[in-house]
Amino acid sequence: MYKSFQQHLCEELSAIREAGLYKEERIIVSPQSSSIRVSSGKDEQQVINFCANNYLGLADNQELVAAAKQRMDMRGYGMASVRFICGTQDTHKELERAISDFFGTEDTILYASCFDANGGLFEPLLTEEDAIISDALNHASIIDGVRLCKAVRYRYKNGDVADLEEQLKKAQAQRFRIVATDGVFSMDGNVCPLDKIYALAKKYDALVMVDESHSAGVVGSTGRGVTELYNLRGQIEIITGTLGKAFGGSVGGFTTGKKEIIAMLRQRSRPYLFSNSIPPMIAAAGVRTFELLSRDNVLQDRLHENTRYFVSRMQQAGFDIKPTQSAICAVMLYDARLSQEFAAALQQEGIYVTGFYYPVVPKGEARIRVQLSAAHTQNHLDRGIAAFVKVGKKLGVLKG
Ligand SMILES: *Cc1c(COP(=O)(O)O)cnc(C)c1O
Repeated sequence: MYKSFQQHLCEELSAIREAGLYKEERIIVSPQSSSIRVSSGKDEQQVINFCANNYLGLADNQELVAAAKQRMDMRGYGMASVRFICGTQDTHKELERAISDFFGTEDTILYASCFDANGGLFEPLLTEEDAIISDALNHASIIDGVRLCKAVRYRYKNGDVADLEEQLKKAQAQRFRIVATDGVFSMDGNVCPLDKIYALAKKYDALVMVDESHSAGVVGSTGRGVTELYNLRGQIEIITGTLGKAFGGSVGGFTTGKKEIIAMLRQRSRPYLFSNSIPPMIAAAGVRTFELLSRDNVLQDRLHENTRYFVSRMQQAGFDIKPTQSAICAVMLYDARLSQEFAAALQQEGIYVTGFYYPVVPKGEARIRVQLSAAHTQNHLDRGIAAFVKVGKKLGVLKG
């Protein structure tokens, strides 16, 4: 049968290519960092990286590398088990405690990824008697998690609290309600209005779930996330997040919050029960990450300063920047083809970014997403801005 299936796949793949939607992977041949070496297969190029989720610059941090190596020497390579059979070492429990301390929550459960944390969140907690009220721009993993659950689904427009209130009124028909939102929305860099969401949740008797993947380590004066920004530490029932972005950029996800919720997830959450435990070295480097972040706010402060500097200089230069409260800076170009030409021209200048267009963002809202990092030096930022201005003039985005 493979012949006909193969032909079907080839046709589908051609259609993706013809639509200009085929995703090519670019090969990095250095550690992940603010300055990386990329390979085209033929030659290599050193570029300044503005498209990693490496917000605190920890992806190649030597303390974390050393912690991982040391633990691997002591405890071996892998666990070869799910957590509840024989996949839990002291290090896993230590990491769960460190995450709870970081967010000011009661307890934490680890997953192989935040995709798994979100995928395994709703189904164990809610039934068809209950409701989930979800932001329209939530991450794919929240959408999938909601799909796997029998609860009644409501959707509200991105960050629109009036619409959320309408949906909450309808959801009074159900027994329990959870409002689910990203902390930071990854395409615009806007923060969810958690203060207003929380107030509405109180008024309409709902729980709140926030995915802090792009906000943890970034948002709030000490980078503790959106609950810090809105002075709601310890108030939100459920927070999910990843170790794959600001917290070292490796792998691993978690759900943290009320202890009974975490206890139920340990009993019933399928990606936790039926998927492998994270390796000891990752857990140990995770523990070290939170130790490092509890010492001082040097990295968070530098990230905030870098973001302020980059955004204000880009605005002064005349670029159209989406309002942002995170380390994501969306440089609006609107035209899909232009976004691709712009990104290619920037790479020629040694600046590594990604252009996004429909269907990743709405039609006619193509953009280049710049992600700032604490690891960017003044020189990196200035070279990035100069390249944007040069290409912007050449492609007629900027006048003069
Ligand atoms: C990146 C991201 C995830 C997935 O995290 P992984 O640990 O890489 O699976 C989930 N939710 C949001 C909002 C994200 O940005």
